[in-house]
Amino acid sequence: MARRTKFVDSDILIIGGGFGGCGATYESRYWGRDLKIVLVEKANIERSGAVAQGLSAINCYMGMQWGENQPEDFVRYARGDLMGLVREDLVYDIARHVDSTVHMFEEWGLPILKNPETGRYLREGKWQIMIHGESYKPIVAEAARKSATEVYNRIMVTHLLMDSKRPNRIAGAVGFDVRNGDFYVFRAKAVIVGAGGGSHIYRPRSVGEGMGRTWYAPWSTASAYGLVIPTGAKMTQMENKIVLTRFKDGYGPVGAWFLLLKAHATNAAGEFYEKDRYPEIKARVGHYVDIQPMPTCLRNHAMLEEIKAGKGPIYMHTQKVLDTKEKEEIGWEDFLDMTIGQAVVWAAQNIDPKEKPSELITSEPYIMGSHATCSGAWASGPEDCAPADYQWGYNRMTTVEGLFGAGDTIGGSAHKFSAGSFVEGRLAAKAAVRYVMDHKAEPPRVDDEHIKRLQEVVFKPMENYRVGRNEIVAGTVAPSYITPLQGIQRLEKIMDEYVGGYSMFYVTSDALLNRGLEHLEMLTADFEHIGAEDLHQLQRAWELQHRILTAESVTMHTLFRQETRWPGYYYRADHPKLDDAEWHVFTGSQYDSKTGEWKMSKLPVHRIVEGFELLRT
Ligand SMILES: Cc1cc2nc3c(=O)[nH]c(=O)nc-3n(C[C@H](O)[C@H](O)[C@H](O)COP(=O)(O)OP(=O)(O)OC[C@H]3O[C@@H](n4cnc5c(N)ncnc54)[C@H](O)[C@@H]3O)c2cc1C
Repeated sequence: MARRTKFVDSDILIIGGGFGGCGATYESRYWGRDLKIVLVEKANIERSGAVAQGLSAINCYMGMQWGENQPEDFVRYARGDLMGLVREDLVYDIARHVDSTVHMFEEWGLPILKNPETGRYLREGKWQIMIHGESYKPIVAEAARKSATEVYNRIMVTHLLMDSKRPNRIAGAVGFDVRNGDFYVFRAKAVIVGAGGGSHIYRPRSVGEGMGRTWYAPWSTASAYGLVIPTGAKMTQMENKIVLTRFKDGYGPVGAWFLLLKAHATNAAGEFYEKDRYPEIKARVGHYVDIQPMPTCLRNHAMLEEIKAGKGPIYMHTQKVLDTKEKEEIGWEDFLDMTIGQAVVWAAQNIDPKEKPSELITSEPYIMGSHATCSGAWASGPEDCAPADYQWGYNRMTTVEGLFGAGDTIGGSAHKFSAGSFVEGRLAAKAAVRYVMDHKAEPPRVDDEHIKRLQEVVFKPMENYRVGRNEIVAGTVAPSYITPLQGIQRLEKIMDEYVGGYSMFYVTSDALLNRGLEHLEMLTADFEHIGAEDLHQLQRAWELQHRILTAESVTMHTLFRQETRWPGYYYRADHPKLDDAEWHVFTGSQYDSKTGEWKMSKLPVHRIVEGFELLRT
C-alpha cells in the first residue's frame, strides 16, 4: 500500500509530551521567540506519560521561600539514597530551580494543599508536598500546547535521524501516525528527547488481564533509551533499576502512609524487622546503612529477607493511624488521585483500612531516570557548577551533538520526579535554543535514501504479517512471524529469570547474565520477523524494540558492575558486597548500531557539595 510521507521541519523538535517534554516546549518558546518548536507525542499530551492519571504529591520541592530546605540539602539526600552515586551537578541544578516551577504550576491552576497553621504548602515528607493532582497533566500540557508552534499527537517516533555528513550530529526523527499510517520525517536543528522510562521489561507480578496494572504505566515503553542508544550516545547507570515497595496487587503508593500518616510496616508477627536486620545489612554495605533516611533499596532488602525467612505477609498498619475523618479521607484520596486500582482492591477484598492492615510487597524492576533511580543518557552539566569531566558545551546535551534530554532520559540524577523532570526540560530547552542560535550556519542534512530505507524498516512488521498470515496454522499461530505480545512475554521472562527479576528475588550473576544475553540476541534476531496485523500492533512492535534494546543495555551494565551496590534493587550473587574501592564510579556504555557491540567504561563520581561525613571511605 502506498503511504503518504510527511516532512516537518523545525528548529527544536521535542519528542514526548510528558513532564520533561512539556517543560522543554514551554521554555523553548521563552528563549526562542521566533523559533519553530514542534512537539511530537505518541498518545495525546492532555493525558499522556507517567502522570496521565494524576498524582497526589509533588515529590521534589525545596521550600526555599520559607527556609525549609536548600538545594545542597537535596544533593546530600539524593547522594545518600543512591549510596554515593549521583551526578551532583545535575541534581543541584534541578533543586535550585524546582521551587519556581512549582509556583508556576500553582499559578496555572494546580491546587496545592496548605497547612492551615503555617499557611505553607502541606508537607507529606521533607521533600514532598500534597496536591489535588487528578488534573496535574492537563494543566501542564496546556502550557506546552500554547508554547509549541505545532503539536503532533498520535505519532509514534521509532528512530532518531543522524546528520548524513557529520556522524555525531542529530538531524531529527522518524515515526508514523498510529491512526492513519502516514510516515513522518521530522527534520530539526536540535532534538530534546523526553520519551519516558520503561515498564514491562521485566515480568510483572500481575498476571492475565491484570498485566495492564503495573506500578509504572504500561504505556511507558523505554523509548527514552530505545531512541537514544542507537545514536551511539553514552549511557550511564542502566543497571540502576528501580524496585518499589507498594501495596500488594494494586501497586498503591506508600509515601503518604509512611510519611504523612506515620503508619508502620511490620512482619506477620507484628515485629519491626528493619532494625533487627541492621547487622546483616551493615556487613553487606558498610556505613551506607547509617545514612538517614535509610536508602530506599536497603529498606526493600530488609523486607525481602523477612519474606524469604517466611515471616510475611508484610503489613502496613493503616488501622492504627486512621483515627480521624480527615486522615481517613487523606488515605482514600491518596489512591483515588493517582492509583484508583488500589481503592478497588480494598473494595474487592473487603478491606476497610480503618479496621484491617494491608499487605505490602516489592514490585518487579523498572528502568527510569527520574524517580528514585537514575538510568539514562550521560549529559553535559551546567556551566557554573559542573566539573570539567561533566561538561562539553550545552547543559543536558548528550554526547551526540544537538541531542538533548530531560526527565527519565537523563541519567545520573535521581529524585527529579514530576516537577524536577519539568525543570530539566526547561534547562535542556534553554541550552538547545542557544545551540540552535550558535549553529545557525550549519543546518543538519538528511539523506533521502536513508529515509526511504527507514520507511521500509518501520512498516516491515506489517509486511511480515501480510505475507506470513497466509501460513496461519491455527488461530493466530503462524510459523514465520511472532506477534508483539509473544515478543514482550518472552522479553519479560528472560529479564525476570536471568537479569534479576522478582521470581529470582532479584538475584543474578555473571553466568546468568551471559545466558540472558544469548536469549536476548535470539529475541533481537526474531524481531526481524515480527508481524503486525494493524497500526496498533505496529506501535506495539516498535515499543517492544525499544524495550529489547533497553533490556540489553541493562544486562550489559549489570554485568559490568561487579558488586552489589543496591541490595533490594538487585543482587550479583557472585559479588554480594558493595565495593567502594573499585566501584565508586558511574558505569558508562556506548552502543554501535552497525556492529551491535557495546563499549563499557567507568565514569568518575565528583563531589561538588560537601558534608555527609558518613560517605568518606
Ligand atoms: C507510578 C509512578 C508514580 C509517580 N508518582 C509521583 C509522585 O507522586 N510525585 C511526583 O512528583 N512524581 C511522581 N512520579 C514521577 C513522574 O511521573 C516522572 O518523574 C515524570 O513523569 C518523568 O517525566 P518524563 O517526561 O521523563 O516522562 P513522562 O512524563 O512519562 O513522559 C513521557 C512521554 O513520552 C511519550 N512517548 C513515549 N514514547 C514515545 C515515542 N516513541 N514517540 C512519541 N512519544 C512517546 C509518552 O506518551 C509520554 O507522554 C511517578 C512516576 C511513576 C511512574
